[in-house]
Amino acid sequence: MLSAEVTLSRSAFAHNIALYRKLLGGKTKFTAVVKSNAYGHGLLETASIALSAGADLLAVNALEEALALRKAFPSVSILIMGSIPQLESRKHLLADEDFWVMVSRFEEMQMLSRLNPAPKIHLKLNTGMARLGQSRPEWDALAKKIKEEKIPLAGLCTHFASTEDFTEHSYSMMQLSLFQEAIEIFYSYGFLDILCHCASSASAMLFAEARMDLVRVGISLYGLWPSLETKLSLSLMKKDVGMLKPALSWKTRIQHIQNLDAGAFIGYGSTFKTTYPTRLAVVPVGYYEGLDRKLSNHGYMLIHGERAKILGRICMNMTMLEITHIPKAKLGDEVVILGSSEGETVSADDHAMWTNTINYEIVTNILDKFPRTIVD
Ligand SMILES: *Cc1c(COP(=O)(O)O)cnc(C)c1O
Repeated sequence: MLSAEVTLSRSAFAHNIALYRKLLGGKTKFTAVVKSNAYGHGLLETASIALSAGADLLAVNALEEALALRKAFPSVSILIMGSIPQLESRKHLLADEDFWVMVSRFEEMQMLSRLNPAPKIHLKLNTGMARLGQSRPEWDALAKKIKEEKIPLAGLCTHFASTEDFTEHSYSMMQLSLFQEAIEIFYSYGFLDILCHCASSASAMLFAEARMDLVRVGISLYGLWPSLETKLSLSLMKKDVGMLKPALSWKTRIQHIQNLDAGAFIGYGSTFKTTYPTRLAVVPVGYYEGLDRKLSNHGYMLIHGERAKILGRICMNMTMLEITHIPKAKLGDEVVILGSSEGETVSADDHAMWTNTINYEIVTNILDKFPRTIVD
């Protein structure tokens, strides 16, 4: 086997989708966001589990991801959310009536509408994120132009900037009301059949009015909370949506064991010095494999349900762990980098806290060459 393995729990995905289904009711579609190798979980593996667990469509960032999904799933609707570089020279690749493309500019809409078959065009609007999409002063003129040029508009969408960051949601509410204003403008030009969508994991959980025709759920599909503030917001609103179940475990094995005397230095830069005779395990996973180097001398992995601290600096392809207190640990034993072992857990949130980032980045960083194995 390769130096590490990622396992995916089918039942955890099903649980997380069911949790949203309960919130959404019948008319809102559930979009499984599988961009960026499904947040590190494995694109095709995750897409297949999500679809069999009841996701209505898939969403990605890039055209390449959409093409890979299309090969595996010939008739599934796929929403492409990112901008598409070199669209002019590659537009033929988008001739697929089940591609739903989020578009920011009128010229792109024109280009795509002339394809045969043409993909579904979803106009992206900026309501406060200032990333992609047209801003308010343009909306009326844009609606007029789309109508005059007879561009078939299939959807209207926007994206919240800071629902995850606060427990006080006036900025999100401002974005929502701007989006509702945009919808009214497009209705007034006769676009009555458009699909409207704006909610990602956090906003779909928190704001019933934001669910609209479909929600685009990424992080919570994988059983991770968008943020602590999202949990706090729910509790302030006295809402209980239930628990999410993390779908991913990341494991490796002990590759080498060292017995060191007191006073020995460990790793590059000799940043750790033992103060007692120390038993050390080496695992074949380092920062290339997706383990953040900021975990050097910080954090732990699990061996036989015990915490094995990371000692010294994380190397490019290896990491050293303290196993003095785990005498039964031997060569080849399983080491849990993310996941559970005999009642102990290391979560992506733990890693995020230790490295001052968000759980999104932790799982997305797991190297894509590791096999993704589906369990239960
Ligand atoms: C990534 C992304 C999502 C999903 O966000 P989560 O917080 O992971 O649910 C939704 N919409 C857009 C436009 C995105 O880029």
